[in-house]
Amino acid sequence: MTETVFNLKPSELAYVPFVSVDNMMRNVRAVGVETVMRGIADYIEEDFRRWESFDKKPRIPAHAPEGVIELMPTSDGKTFGFKYVNGHPGNTSDGLQTVTGFGVLSDLTTGYPLLFSEMTILTALRTAANSALAAKYLAPKGSKTMAIIGNGAQSDFQCLAFKELLGITEIRAYDLSTEASVRLARNLAHSGLNVTICKTAEDAIEGAEIVTTVTADKKLATILTDNMIGSGVHINAVGGDCPGKTELHRDILLRSDIFVEFPDQTHIEGEFQQLDRDHPVTELWQVYAGTVPGRTSQDQITLFDSVGFAIEDFAALRYVHDLLPKTGHFEKLDLLADPDDPRDLYGMVLRSAHAA
Ligand code: NAD
Repeated sequence: MTETVFNLKPSELAYVPFVSVDNMMRNVRAVGVETVMRGIADYIEEDFRRWESFDKKPRIPAHAPEGVIELMPTSDGKTFGFKYVNGHPGNTSDGLQTVTGFGVLSDLTTGYPLLFSEMTILTALRTAANSALAAKYLAPKGSKTMAIIGNGAQSDFQCLAFKELLGITEIRAYDLSTEASVRLARNLAHSGLNVTICKTAEDAIEGAEIVTTVTADKKLATILTDNMIGSGVHINAVGGDCPGKTELHRDILLRSDIFVEFPDQTHIEGEFQQLDRDHPVTELWQVYAGTVPGRTSQDQITLFDSVGFAIEDFAALRYVHDLLPKTGHFEKLDLLADPDDPRDLYGMVLRSAHAA
């Protein structure tokens, strides 16, 4: 095992393990992207099964016409976690990411941080893991074909997670930008997935048991209309995750059994914002805990109205925290002041001046 702070008490910590973008990529390469997503899915499932032990609230947003910055905190009474994340659909035209993030895990008994990590790549990994986990309970058994509408930053991860967790072999890709679909097909060329680039969304969903929508546009869009969705399909709606930002026609929602993370947040941000708050939805944690069923019939249209919830990021940070002792791919961040006498903080500043 590498030199580590992971088995020390918080009071013995001299630094905070920090996972940069570079080190996140090394960690992913060290174990393999599919293994990471399977691992994160397991951690999400485990945390959703102990749902009642978590402190839960809708995320805290700051909106601008161009996008949103959000803070996503949660705690299980022992550990606290939060993610800072943005969503700016116009960013890509300036060469910037639509979604970037970073996050922290802390010990709740001392308040000391245990991990500081980039969460741009980690968000893509956890979002895909989360989608595939839900689909394990909701998609038709033996699904082989997934349509993916929106072929941007999240899409490769989605395809790979569905291959790993569900055994998907065929991808039917559509994006307003053919360049985006070509990029996706190129990245997946050696993945074992067979990718067909489609000219329209209608063409993409032809024969697909699973339809993933992961487009970015800050408006009430209609990526899927009612007539496009036949019985028995599972819809994994990922891109509608903000007030005034949706992807599905309301009539699809009325024909679907809707599964959500945290209804209070999904009603503000998800496709669910198109319906009354008292419209019936099922909470995924109950499905994972085995108290309510997932898919119950072949003809049922199931919809995972994904918006991204704090417990998923908490689980992803926990996974990374547990992975680091095995890979050693992190830096030591000097984030904790440690004067000899805890009350003599200014004395530490004085001594540093003498030392300098
Ligand atoms: P991105 O900008 O990299 O890619 C979005 C793609 O959608 C682009 O290629 C764009 O051309 C395409 N697109 C836009 N409108 C379209 C349309 N009408 N038809 C077909 N394609 C269209 O964005 P990204 O990082 O891949 O994120 C995609 C979406 O997922 C964003 O809205 C983001 O906020 C959301 N997201 C959700 C979660 C979650 O947990 N639910 C997590 C991360 C990101």
